[in-house]
Amino acid sequence: MNIFEQNESAIRSYCRSFPVVFKQAKGAELVGRDDERYIDFLAGAGTLNYGHNNPVLKQALIKYIESDGLTHGLDMHTDAKESFLEVFKRIILEPRGMGDCVVQFTGPTGSNSVEAALKLARKVKGRRNIISFTNGFHGVTTGALACTGNQHHRGAAGVTLGDVTRMPFDGYMGDKMNTLAYMDKLLSDPSSGIDHPAAVIVETVQGEGGLNVASADWMRRLERLCRKHDMLLIVDDIQAGCGRTGSFFSFEEMGIKPDMVTLSKSLSGYGLPLAVLVLRKELDQWEPGEHNGTFRGNNHAFITATAAIESFWSDTRFAQEVQRKAKLVRERLQSIVQRQGPNSLRVKGRGLMIGIECPDGDLAASVCSRAFARNLVIETSGAHSQVVKCLCPLTITDEQLNSALDILEGAFAGAMA
Ligand code: PMP
Repeated sequence: MNIFEQNESAIRSYCRSFPVVFKQAKGAELVGRDDERYIDFLAGAGTLNYGHNNPVLKQALIKYIESDGLTHGLDMHTDAKESFLEVFKRIILEPRGMGDCVVQFTGPTGSNSVEAALKLARKVKGRRNIISFTNGFHGVTTGALACTGNQHHRGAAGVTLGDVTRMPFDGYMGDKMNTLAYMDKLLSDPSSGIDHPAAVIVETVQGEGGLNVASADWMRRLERLCRKHDMLLIVDDIQAGCGRTGSFFSFEEMGIKPDMVTLSKSLSGYGLPLAVLVLRKELDQWEPGEHNGTFRGNNHAFITATAAIESFWSDTRFAQEVQRKAKLVRERLQSIVQRQGPNSLRVKGRGLMIGIECPDGDLAASVCSRAFARNLVIETSGAHSQVVKCLCPLTITDEQLNSALDILEGAFAGAMA
């Protein structure tokens, strides 16, 4: 038994799929202790959009550390926070018509920003109920967990799902059902017993839930439904945001304006913990001290986030590169489906949040373990772990992408032989 098995909780999961001790990482590549090299198609579940140890971010961080810049400052003003707020507003919010939004530093994790969004929505509207969707994933703290569809995450701990009403996500019933008309009818009908919700929380692409994509039209109609029933629209962009779908926010091309947006994962760009709630200024109705926390804003994360936004989002080149790579991956995945199982496999997802749905979790697991045997780190998602999910760093080179996709193709061929 090794030290990890002896000293770490039984909850460990990724180390079971990838039984290697890693020592280094750069760009899209991981290096094992035995110097074996792996291509990373997991990327911290969407945390490493700019690659491991991105050199620009690393230099900014080294410079800051060498100058004895603050590491921790609670929510006091610091130089690092000021630069982040300035750059985030100028480069991200204003050009996207969100200049009227403010930023709340909510704590280190995505779940923290979801909790803040839910609590504030309930306070502002004076109502408890929240609508979330089938296959949604919003985190594992109690409030976020109540909005997370999957029973598996809820476990046997008896966590109550009270004050959350689950509705069918776009496409949940195939093309057979207009899920928003269904929702509208239930919300308008006192006999449905649904308490008037304060807000709706939604992912535009469900990351953990199996790469289910909400169409732009569905999102626009969802926004209209929110206005009709006086509910706030919260977009959880923790996984789909920061460029993953080919634009900074996943909803940019949809013509919607959410009331609140949660961001985390790749916001710091360096794997450092940083989570924010972006909200319309008039909703910022907190009393001082009403939603505190010790780790609200890690100054090292502000430094790398600022460097990431300046170097990747000052113009449109990076977004165009992501879109180009996304097209390349989609075409390769489509050819795998055509060759290996046009009747049983399906390409799912949007941008570089894309994968192949298998008929069951066993096949998907077999594909991933065959890929790992050939040095590709890749995981599954979905309620039945049935979707092989490609979540490469957005900065991956074409050569690495093609090698990884060759490995994946071989893994599908082997698993389906
Ligand atoms: N929302 C979404 C969409 C996520 O993908 C995740 C993490 N997978 C979370 C919330 C929770 O974030 P964290 O694990 O940092 O609490």
